[in-house]
Amino acid sequence: MTYTGSCHCGNVKYTVEGEIDKAMACNCSMCQRKGSLLWFVPIDKFELQSDPAASRVYQFNKHRIDHTFCTTCGIHPYAVGTDPKGNRMAAINVRCLEGIDLDKVPVSHFDGRAM
Ligand SMILES: [Zn+2]
Repeated sequence: MTYTGSCHCGNVKYTVEGEIDKAMACNCSMCQRKGSLLWFVPIDKFELQSDPAASRVYQFNKHRIDHTFCTTCGIHPYAVGTDPKGNRMAAINVRCLEGIDLDKVPVSHFDGRAM
């Protein structure tokens, strides 16, 4: 399945391939404020379809994750980081995907605040 995701204004757009088996709600200082629901995919399943200059990256704490946001509308449609095994991953904010029923996505809670 290929999904299309975007920010609110559409300047940041991407496609992502895979099955959404679950999403993660994290309570860290960043995710709690954003309210994002994250689905992790290997970076090669993710393809940016818009001008990279339309977004900027925010980092905090250990600077391991690139929290990408649209410079026009401010929405965070995805992030990029490295998992504990060293694999590059995209963290898709499933709230930014088209045509999905969020109520059908199982949500697991992650205690990011404790890290
Ligand atoms: Zn935007």
